[in-house]
Amino acid sequence: MINYTERIALLMQDVVSRTPALSFIDLREVLVFARFGRPGAEGAFATCHCLTLPETEPGYYFWRDRATGAVTRRSEWFVTKTPEVRVSDTRIKYLISFVLPRFCEQSLDRSWKAELYGEVDPWVAKLDTIIHELYHIDPAAGGIRQFVHASGTRAPRTHAPQFYEDVARMTSDYLASRPDPQLIDFLRCDFEGLQKQHGGVTATTFRNFPSFPQRYMERCALPVDAGVKVEPLKRAVQPALYTERDLHVRQFTGGSARRLELSA
Ligand SMILES: [Zn+2]
Repeated sequence: MINYTERIALLMQDVVSRTPALSFIDLREVLVFARFGRPGAEGAFATCHCLTLPETEPGYYFWRDRATGAVTRRSEWFVTKTPEVRVSDTRIKYLISFVLPRFCEQSLDRSWKAELYGEVDPWVAKLDTIIHELYHIDPAAGGIRQFVHASGTRAPRTHAPQFYEDVARMTSDYLASRPDPQLIDFLRCDFEGLQKQHGGVTATTFRNFPSFPQRYMERCALPVDAGVKVEPLKRAVQPALYTERDLHVRQFTGGSARRLELSA
């Protein structure tokens, strides 16, 4: 069977080594994993998740009386934290998730991105997405790359038109550098084609699939004004630390993902 996330990780090595704007990325600190998503359904093909965002200041939710405006109820104090992910003692800074099988069906034929390219094969949409997610990694290591206006002020959106144009140029330059076809050929196939050719598609997932490391709230003991009802926070079900033991290889089919029992 073909391990799809492993193939993407290998391809990323080559992309980063041939793309000056991405050469600062240390892929040992980037983990590629898969989420499940049906083809044709609305939603992302891939996402870059930052694991270096700092803990927030303590805060709470509150509810006001509509008539008087007085606070009638509030939650406990909490801080929002990012779980830690460690693989072989290396702290992972970014997770990049790919949504299978949806990602495999991506094509420039059905995308507005076609106008950024001109005459290229439709599967290049997948390479564009891979480079797009890598480009979200911030060279200043401050989280997700922000788009900075010429004036130096930060743009509220991370996807300014320039972002897409930069990605299309890096994708075209990478292809023009004549990469080894063995590294990119798997992107030419749709999901059914991969299943036929390889007998199945597997990918790295987290043990708590379909969940994965996400920001979570943690209660903190701070005083609360008398006379206000305090609602307890839901306990986090999210582990604070994930390691390689939390990585499971699952086989993805058109409609589900199941864990593979490894005999080794
Ligand atoms: Zn994006």
